[in-house]
Amino acid sequence: MSTPVGLAAGAPAGQDHAHEHAHPAQEGHVVLVVNAGSSSIKCSVYRVVDDPHADGGSRAIFGAGGQIESIGLTPRVVAHMADGRLIVDETFPVAQVSDHDAAFRLLRLVLAVGLRDTPPAAIGHRVVHGGAQHADAVLIDDAVIDELDKLTPLAPLHQPHNLAAIRAVRDAAPELVQVACFDTAFHAHNGVLSQLFGLPYSYFEKGIRRYGFHGLSYEYIARRLHTVAPEIARGRVIVAHLGNGASLCAMRDGKSVETTMGLTALDGLPMGTRCGALDAGAVLWMMESGMDHDEIETLLYQQSGLKGLSGVSSDMRELLPSDSDRAKLAVEYYTYRIAQDIGKLAVTLGGVDGIVFTAGIGENSAPVRAGVCARLGSLFGVEVDDDANRANEPRISASGSRVPVFAIPTDEEGMIALHTARILRESHKV
Ligand code: ADP
Repeated sequence: MSTPVGLAAGAPAGQDHAHEHAHPAQEGHVVLVVNAGSSSIKCSVYRVVDDPHADGGSRAIFGAGGQIESIGLTPRVVAHMADGRLIVDETFPVAQVSDHDAAFRLLRLVLAVGLRDTPPAAIGHRVVHGGAQHADAVLIDDAVIDELDKLTPLAPLHQPHNLAAIRAVRDAAPELVQVACFDTAFHAHNGVLSQLFGLPYSYFEKGIRRYGFHGLSYEYIARRLHTVAPEIARGRVIVAHLGNGASLCAMRDGKSVETTMGLTALDGLPMGTRCGALDAGAVLWMMESGMDHDEIETLLYQQSGLKGLSGVSSDMRELLPSDSDRAKLAVEYYTYRIAQDIGKLAVTLGGVDGIVFTAGIGENSAPVRAGVCARLGSLFGVEVDDDANRANEPRISASGSRVPVFAIPTDEEGMIALHTARILRESHKV
């Protein structure tokens, strides 16, 4: 392992005016943020400090972060400090990091440098599904874990791994305060029309409803708009979170009113490997053709979307330069469906004051943004400034565009740090 370096002056995560707001390193609460997925775990160290100028009165300052990829295959650990200095980049023998527990222990060791040997005041976890119970982040105890476990069938790709990380910490350090921050919570107050499916009403009462996801990302963007585009921050804004998962959120005055994902993270837009909205009759057809539950689940979650349509890759960086006709068709379908659903959300809002692209594809892919905007053009009066778009500038629309369009980096981890510090304060654990 490379020699760890000391903690640099932190920079507020996801912000380009970092130095203006750098705070003395010893203020506030140190929070470890954990985002555990199926084959990777991401961890970041934040210091949450009071800042009367920040929305909500506090700011999360990134100190160090890292991830372990390919757990159980060829585990690779990469971690860096806030200023970009590398702490470690090393591939381990699989026997040494064979499971998530081992991976998590290793990451904590690596990030001890970022923690400067200060134990974190709390650990904040990204938990994908909070169900109907959780409209806010929550302090974790055994009852909460049991309740969240019951939601696993609604998020089979994410929930078990989120909970495994929580249990691993609880076993190793039961005294540590843990907080669950949900992707669903930001949408919890959406109106009944947004939450309903056209099933018998009793199903809605049983919790079969549109919860929506990517809420931590949308909440961060809603806050960030006050700085990047204050003229639309309180208006009607549609945000496109386009990463491996993809969804849209319609916001009014910084609050969610509609979103494209549903009961599960399968609904809405086509994604890297997930199908997006699908005629439920197609699932009946699959069952009748002899496919069992696991085969259908694998097909819909892991073999569909850009990957399934193109037969090439789920990664936009490989699809865009590809000569394959099916890759071109997949990208075309992707931008078509995003534009189409932006139209749907515009109806919910009764108009649009701004459009924001975020996450891996939304922040980095000028061709995808241009493709979506071209389809919106005549109806919405959207006009892209090609140079600004190619440069991934915050505002990518031309000055004459009727609706302004932005590309803004998201920061779900920073949002988790803020929620975790708030719950810690509210629960009088500090
Ligand atoms: P996650 O949803 O797992 O958090 P990200 O938001 O990091 O994922 O998005 C990952 C995806 O972003 C990649 O699979 C890739 O398709 C896309 N991506 C990242 N950088 C670029 C780029 N420069 N151009 C096009 N797509 C990109």
